[in-house]
Amino acid sequence: MPKDYSQLIKKLISLEPKKVDDYFHSRHKKEFEKINCLECANCCRNLGPLLTDSDIARLSKHLKIKPSKFTEQFLRIDEDNDYVFKTMPCPFLQDDNYCSVYEYRPKACKEYPHTDRKNILGILDICIKNTEVCPAVANIFNKLNNDKFLMKT
Ligand code: SF4
Ligand code: SF4
Repeated sequence: MPKDYSQLIKKLISLEPKKVDDYFHSRHKKEFEKINCLECANCCRNLGPLLTDSDIARLSKHLKIKPSKFTEQFLRIDEDNDYVFKTMPCPFLQDDNYCSVYEYRPKACKEYPHTDRKNILGILDICIKNTEVCPAVANIFNKLNNDKFLMKT
């Protein structure tokens, strides 16, 4: 069952957006100094990014196939009308958890798990969802939840 962060959310939305960003960005930095994504790869196994036209153009060029061939081979259109991978785990995830197209990976992969983005309050629902997939995001929320100073401010 997802953890209840309702008190934390109430607290966060009462704060200045800049202050919330500062909290998250500092926690994000600390978590990703400790976590080794190569020992996890949960996002590449379970979530999958959406792919933009420029992602498709870049990846197909790298793979030396036409964008139409790339789309036909790897992608489907989801319920939000976005291109996503046909199959998960991601077809480019290797057995050692390395990404075989890392330099060319979709923008959404680069941005995941979003906790270093500006305006965290605007994507709080996405971040909370990500606590169920990404241990770094779960740690960020747990630490904030237990931060007595934050909860008092
Ligand atoms: S393209 Fe690479 S980074 Fe993106 S989901 Fe696939 S394996 Fe992971
Ligand atoms: S789920 Fe989070 S910790 Fe795991 S590989 Fe993805 S970004 Fe890294």
